Amino acid sequence: MQFKDIEGQQVLANRLTEIIDSGRISHAQLFLGPTASGSLALAIAYAQYLGCENRQHYPAGSVLRADSCGECPNCRKYAELVHPDLHLVFPTTTTATVTSRPCAEDFQEEFRGFMQEFRQVGTEDDWYVRLGVENKQGMIREKDADNIIRSLGLKSYEGGYKVLVVWMAERMNVASANTLLKTLEEPEGKTLLMLVSENRDRLLSTIVSRVQQVVVPDLGGGMSAERKAEFAGMFVSWMRLLFKLNMQPLSEWVDKTAGMGREMQKLFLQYVQESLRACFLKTVAGISLKGELDFGDPKFDQSFPAMIAPRNIEQMNEALNEAQYAIERNANAKITFMQLSFKMSRYMKKPAN
Ligand SMILES: [Zn+2]
Repeated sequence: MQFKDIEGQQVLANRLTEIIDSGRISHAQLFLGPTASGSLALAIAYAQYLGCENRQHYPAGSVLRADSCGECPNCRKYAELVHPDLHLVFPTTTTATVTSRPCAEDFQEEFRGFMQEFRQVGTEDDWYVRLGVENKQGMIREKDADNIIRSLGLKSYEGGYKVLVVWMAERMNVASANTLLKTLEEPEGKTLLMLVSENRDRLLSTIVSRVQQVVVPDLGGGMSAERKAEFAGMFVSWMRLLFKLNMQPLSEWVDKTAGMGREMQKLFLQYVQESLRACFLKTVAGISLKGELDFGDPKFDQSFPAMIAPRNIEQMNEALNEAQYAIERNANAKITFMQLSFKMSRYMKKPAN
């Protein structure tokens, strides 16, 4: 993971490379911010830069002042997340294949796949969907803490820093948090401990007081182009299905959407709300917001906006709000999306009067 691959966090990336270049490296840090804003990716890019054998520095005025080279042996191992001195810990739960005493070591391969797929934006929900356990809550347990102690006690393979990244550190149970606390009190040699968390209030205050905080700015729904294109595709097929109310494909669409994980579902519903608002503005005022009416399907882009008008926009908005609220409260996603579909279909076809 290089800083150049992380969208929207150049200012922070520059501060981090400056700290490393100056040698003022704190052995315990807390990267605090929404996962979707790149906190985990930044922590990994930081460790990669620290170990890079050929750090690149760019001319003054460049967006990034420096970055890892991406080519040295250290960088290549980091890109694959297989560096022997990098230890990744994250919440886990029992799954179809790991039926008892789960720990992060059991899921290293899956986690690499998850990072490769989502890059900087994968959320905790995305992770559980990937494990096939979207309705369970993972945890970081004593067994993980024991593994942490063991790996930090080992000699580093390559003479550099041993790096431990704990993603979603707020999922540590009391026992694992206390074990980790001991290692924070007595750091060993060249170790770098990076906690990545979305919520400082759910960490032990004794831990928070022992780490240097790196606040990762919330990118506030700044959606990547890939995600936007994915949502646009889902939106177009959904709207067409609602118009025809063709049950078989609609129920397939609902199943697929319900399988996405709660955070992603909420994001999609927000995307739908913004898109409908853009259509409405076009209908009533002829205003076309740049980029918001491009769903990647010229025929749809041309004809759909007229379906959204004063007769239905408010009801649709309300139905979408209710669905978001239901998802936040862990309602059954399939039922929520099916009910929403019926409402939206009815409102869409509502005659003008
Ligand atoms: Zn390198």
